[in-house]
Amino acid sequence: MINLVLFGKPGSGKGTQGEFLKSKYQLFHISTGDLFRHHISNQTALGKLAQSYIDKGDLVPDQLTIDMLKDSVENNPEAKGFIFDGFPRTTKQAKALDDFLNEKSMHISATLALEADDDVLVDRLINRGKISGRTDDQDEKKIRNRFEEYNNKTAPLRDFYSAQGKFHSVNGIGSIEEITQRLTLLIDGLL
Ligand code: AMP
Repeated sequence: MINLVLFGKPGSGKGTQGEFLKSKYQLFHISTGDLFRHHISNQTALGKLAQSYIDKGDLVPDQLTIDMLKDSVENNPEAKGFIFDGFPRTTKQAKALDDFLNEKSMHISATLALEADDDVLVDRLINRGKISGRTDDQDEKKIRNRFEEYNNKTAPLRDFYSAQGKFHSVNGIGSIEEITQRLTLLIDGLL
């Protein structure tokens, strides 16, 4: 079983690459951002709780996010492996994920970090916002706040996964195909 964490700032291409990797390796792709947006559009209790955080570009509180992620894994017992996209984003989430997977005799195979400069990412997000209508992608202030959240809360996970020998940096600049190729080279080396 292969379980991958796709790591990187907003706009680094986690979602796009996750979709390719999902079909290539027959993995189940879980994007916590997509799950939250689904809850928001269905006006569920969780969606209502999460919305104010997402609107500001803040992270949703850990426990809500961890419980939602666990449910998604539990609901897919047939999966051959998972791609975690946008999760974990804090050390607490990363520890909870390790503990949860351990209980199931599963583990993270690798964390693949898509690297790109902030200015490139802001441009990508603003363009994406025009197409998708995502309000958190349309306002540079919110985008910069998401980067702040990343720097303060998510960046420490580099050390967390490096200490486990699982952290791999990937150049996230280039065409979608080029980046997929870099990722698949890495993943194939793990199989
Ligand atoms: P994304 O689509 O991954 O950019 O996520 C959009 C928003 O959902 C983020 O800005 C957060 O507000 C929230 N979110 C997604 N994943 C997480 C997570 N693992 N922890 C906390 N908040 C999250």
